[in-house]
Amino acid sequence: MVACWDCPRGCGVVRDLELGACRAPGRAVVATAMVHMGEEAIISGSGGSGTVFFSGCNLGCVFCQNHNISQVCRGEKMDAEALANTFLKLEADWVHNINLVSPSHFSAQIAEAIKLAKQKGIKLPFVYNSGGYDSLKTLKEMDGLIDIYMPDLKFADDALGSKYSGVDDYFSVAAPAIAEMARQAGAPVVAGGIMHRGLLVRHLVMPGMVQDSMAALDWLKANAPDAIVNIMDQYRPTYQAHNYPEINRRLDAGEYRQVVEYYEKLEFKYAHLLPQGYMFL
Ligand code: SF4
Repeated sequence: MVACWDCPRGCGVVRDLELGACRAPGRAVVATAMVHMGEEAIISGSGGSGTVFFSGCNLGCVFCQNHNISQVCRGEKMDAEALANTFLKLEADWVHNINLVSPSHFSAQIAEAIKLAKQKGIKLPFVYNSGGYDSLKTLKEMDGLIDIYMPDLKFADDALGSKYSGVDDYFSVAAPAIAEMARQAGAPVVAGGIMHRGLLVRHLVMPGMVQDSMAALDWLKANAPDAIVNIMDQYRPTYQAHNYPEINRRLDAGEYRQVVEYYEKLEFKYAHLLPQGYMFL
């Protein structure tokens, strides 16, 4: 039995005996595995993304839209063999990729499962779809196994992560993690409208946080200039957001527009691969 240091939380617990911050047992827990048509067009395409949603999370966002699976660890426990077979079953559904959602706290088991799936002949690209709170050690272990990194960059200010995501060092961890993802992924490869390789960073604009969004984009432009960026407008005050009056509202169209206009001024090299949508409230 090994103590867990798999993510930047560094709990040091033996997960089959004691719960760490992610509330996850030693074995990967899959909430659901499905063909997902709702990801970005370059990820879902016409055939869908073969999405594996892992239960639990190493963050504790008070506005989490998936809190029913992220804040409890409910689902099917899988060893590496079962996980690899799940990937292969999705491949048989003609999806474009295998999309690993909230993988950070199961990274060791996932790496083993990807290796096994490759031995069994899987050909699809693997997508690492995390909250951005990943350790460099984990990412080095994923080098060569992951084709597309798709992290969030939630905040550019550690104080915001501390208040809303349950960790004191969100940006301090996410910044080097995303820089490492950028190094591994290189320039994007998109063929036939489908992404095969690269870094796609998601940034959710939050109510009252336009300046922080701009700071996040500045950082990306300077440190991951080849990133494809998705500026998201779908913030809703769910889960515990009602306890924070300043984020207990939807975003207004003006806030989103300001961030998108700022992004356009920065002229990211691959912006044409993912046009941003303006929301209409
Ligand atoms: S993976 Fe879970 S138990 Fe391990 S260090 Fe991270 S939060 Fe703690």
